[in-house]
Amino acid sequence: MFKVIFLGTSGSTPTDQRGLPSVCIEYEGDIIMFDCGEGTQRQMMINKINFSKVRAIFLSHIHGDHTIGVAGLVRTLALNKRASKLEIFVPKGYENAVRRLLDFDGTKIGYEIAIRKVESGIIYTGKGYSVKAFRLSHTVPAFGFSFEENSKMKFDRKKAERLGIVGPMYSKLEKDGTIKVDRKTVKITQVARMQNGRKVVYATDTRPVKETVSAARHANLLIHEATYTDELKDLAAERMHSTALEAAKLAKKANVNNLILTHISARYRKDSELLKEARNAFKRTEVAKDGMSIDITGP
Ligand SMILES: [Zn+2]
Ligand SMILES: [Zn+2]
Repeated sequence: MFKVIFLGTSGSTPTDQRGLPSVCIEYEGDIIMFDCGEGTQRQMMINKINFSKVRAIFLSHIHGDHTIGVAGLVRTLALNKRASKLEIFVPKGYENAVRRLLDFDGTKIGYEIAIRKVESGIIYTGKGYSVKAFRLSHTVPAFGFSFEENSKMKFDRKKAERLGIVGPMYSKLEKDGTIKVDRKTVKITQVARMQNGRKVVYATDTRPVKETVSAARHANLLIHEATYTDELKDLAAERMHSTALEAAKLAKKANVNNLILTHISARYRKDSELLKEARNAFKRTEVAKDGMSIDITGP
């Protein structure tokens, strides 16, 4: 299973419709969280996210709307008698700020919390996937995250059968790269090719930047902030955010399959304005809602 669940989709302040930023990825039983705004743990309960499966939390930057929720979440995990380690990632230089946020009342947390710094490149590897970080452009150091499924060997079954490969010979061929069939050697490249895994990219808070374009190239899904509509593009530039149109143009440049806009300013009561503007530049756009869940299908 490869699923994306939006827990909070507002920016700066919550509204009666939207909580503060948090997105979960559920991949084959693991849960990876991007940002953890205030109220995230309740959204997890409402959306039936299994707390014990959370492996790591990636904070895009230190701003409170993206981070304050971890203080409560780590306490609930302790009350749930969590034993396994929790990893929390934050841009380099803010590790102590997160430590202070977690320790502010001196509560003893009975499991290990590892606070790790985010720098560009692969920062986490799980079973069958990895998480890469890339630089964003905001008022404080901020990073986007790319969740990438490992590439897999894809066999051309017909071709393989013609060359006499059957049953357990497939796994042997995958392991060794070659196999002997009736005194002939068959190389894996004759009957299989590598197929790229699926990819979901998360970018907030930020101006539209080329780093996101390269990270998101051919992604199954790009989740990009759209704090404002283009009418407020000067404000977006001043506050180092993006407009719906800017996010859509970026999605087009990166040639992604789908775009979902999030981190919506509380001033927009309806999605229609943001959606119309973005779809003019990139058709396959949606505006995120709290509780929205997307299956990531396809190669
Ligand atoms: Zn924010
Ligand atoms: Zn911010």
